[in-house]
Amino acid sequence: MKSLKDFEEDIYKCSRCALCQSVCPIYKVTLNECCVSKGKFNMLNGIIKGELAMTRQAKKYLDLCTQCNACKNFCPSGIDARKIFIAAKNEYYKKNSQPILLRFANSYKVFKTILFLSRIFFAIYRIFKLDKIVNILRPLILKTGILGKRLILLNSLASKNIKKSKKNKKNKQNSKKAIYFKGCFNQYINNDTELAVKDLLNATGVDFIEKDFECCGISYLHDGDIENFKKLAQTNIKKLDTDADYIITDCASCFDVLKNYEEYIETKLAKDIAKKVITPVELISQTNFKSKKHLRITLHKPCHENFDIAEFIKNVENIEYIQAQDYDKCCGFSGKFALQNQEISREISRRKAQQFIKTGADIILTTCPACILGLEQGLAETGEQNVPAVMNLFVFLAQYCTTR
Ligand code: SF4
Ligand code: SF4
Repeated sequence: MKSLKDFEEDIYKCSRCALCQSVCPIYKVTLNECCVSKGKFNMLNGIIKGELAMTRQAKKYLDLCTQCNACKNFCPSGIDARKIFIAAKNEYYKKNSQPILLRFANSYKVFKTILFLSRIFFAIYRIFKLDKIVNILRPLILKTGILGKRLILLNSLASKNIKKSKKNKKNKQNSKKAIYFKGCFNQYINNDTELAVKDLLNATGVDFIEKDFECCGISYLHDGDIENFKKLAQTNIKKLDTDADYIITDCASCFDVLKNYEEYIETKLAKDIAKKVITPVELISQTNFKSKKHLRITLHKPCHENFDIAEFIKNVENIEYIQAQDYDKCCGFSGKFALQNQEISREISRRKAQQFIKTGADIILTTCPACILGLEQGLAETGEQNVPAVMNLFVFLAQYCTTR
């Protein structure tokens, strides 16, 4: 893995043209030049030269990033800012020992305990049909301010569309094997997407190999805590060592991390895994889908989705696809970022949601559970009552469409 010093040349390549400012979601909300790649590179330049120290404040600036990659995609010098920020934050962890309490709070054991308790909480929440009650009372709840908006967000995690998987007849002769890497959200909170993906892929003759994977490690990676990230990556890589044809995952962010394991775990196996990781959309892209009823559909393309899902959705029959402005720009959620920078996150989401409301669509489709939260957060922030439903693409295809 490259250290911050190894990125010195990349940082020098920055011409200070400021084009990254025009696409950075954080800059658009804060107008703070220190938040954008150019500003962060100035600071890192000083740190590499020894003129500045890698302090907690420096890490705080580096954390002001949703990891959206917009600056990389727009930068004329082709600088991959995200990788540089991760290496720089890792430098912080190497140089500064963390208080025991903070280490404990950030430990994987605590993270797993939270997920386990969430599973119980949401099961009880659904048994008492609180999701339905909150949906009915949404207009009133929205008027209660920030707590009401948080309740709407929590409710969006609980709502289920699919009760159980259909039994599809498999064509054993054409059967391909896919390891199914389930995202944490799917495993612990709401398995709608998993049921939908299985329905869709069984019908195309794909068999699943299921294993108990750990979290892909995204929050540790983005935080620069490479030590903890590598532990999870190595555990998962060992379990991904099979002769399966594909490795699929239901989450655009997990997809991105699995593809990037090879950058941090430099083994042949990690490289082989990166080649096999594909999105389920790729496997169903040749299937013709038709919506059971005419719907106006719009799309939020997650920052880490690398398949052209807009093109795929446009081909679904009996829908009207309406592309929202900035449909492929960051929703502002990005896991820990939304917790650490609540006001900025809510404002990015609100601006994004307004673009979707303008389309007049019935449903916003997306392929990342965190983006579902970002979109729900934004819609709640607008305070509007008539808003589109937010839905995972696979759930929509399995529930609302037929195939030909
Ligand atoms: S777009 Fe690239 S070269 Fe231009 S200021 Fe931003 S990081 Fe530097
Ligand atoms: S990755 Fe996105 S949020 Fe982070 S600095 Fe680049 S444009 Fe801004």
